[in-house]
Amino acid sequence: LRGNTEGGGPTDALGSQTAVYAVASGKGGVGKSSVAANLAVALAASGKRVGLIDADVWGYSVPQLFGVRRNPVALKGLMLPVEEHGVRLMSVGFFVSEEEPVVWRGPMLHKALEQFLSDVHWGELDVLLLDLPPGTGDITLSLLELVPQAALLAVTTPQPAARNVASRVGRMAKDMRMPVAGVVENMSTLHCSSCGEQTAMFGSGGGQQLADELGTDLLAQIPLDVALREAGDIGVPVVTGSPDAQSAVAFTELAQRL
Ligand code: ADP
Repeated sequence: LRGNTEGGGPTDALGSQTAVYAVASGKGGVGKSSVAANLAVALAASGKRVGLIDADVWGYSVPQLFGVRRNPVALKGLMLPVEEHGVRLMSVGFFVSEEEPVVWRGPMLHKALEQFLSDVHWGELDVLLLDLPPGTGDITLSLLELVPQAALLAVTTPQPAARNVASRVGRMAKDMRMPVAGVVENMSTLHCSSCGEQTAMFGSGGGQQLADELGTDLLAQIPLDVALREAGDIGVPVVTGSPDAQSAVAFTELAQRL
């Protein structure tokens, strides 16, 4: 990554009309990246100009989820985001090979993320989504300092334990005086396609409880959906690949609520 950030604040690239959502979770594996990716695609499908920064530096998954097989190119000293499924993308994963561990130290990561904001030709954006690393580590905090206008979108599973962990993210938002846009509950229920029964595989109520705790709304309950998992594996987001799948419909509704 090259470029310079002198002569302007790191957020100069974002217009005042750009809504910025930081997609965060208390821990890994709750589907934060799947939510960020599919929400981005659903927003783009609704006609919005959408950017997605994959800032989940150790668990980056945007290249895989979007099936990206090329690297960003540079133009006049700025990087161009990779556009896939209607979304402008930037990811740490574009700059490291898959087998390579990410051994960058904190300051390097901070610099890289700063450059994702200042040295990328995003063009005009209606919405920018940040897929944050899980938890509330230094990278999360420094990233949020770079994008002070970001609102938190908290992702949790319905399990009470997951909600407890996720509420730490809510407290972080409070400490940073960050607005909370809402809560997304993922892996809410499993719908049996043969008998029609809904199974609360991971319990229920965690999303609503977290929303109450944060004084915000539960914006969506995304069901457990084989189509979503398969879509992630083949690199075509479920919202474009199987728009009638239950999870895709839930993401489309979520995009309308934001
Ligand atoms: P995180 O970013 O929180 O670590 P991921 O988005 O990488 O989580 O999701 C973890 C795994 O769970 C992935 O294999 C993903 O395909 C799967 N997954 C996430 N959400 C769902 C869902 N609603 N239904 C089925 N599988 C899901």
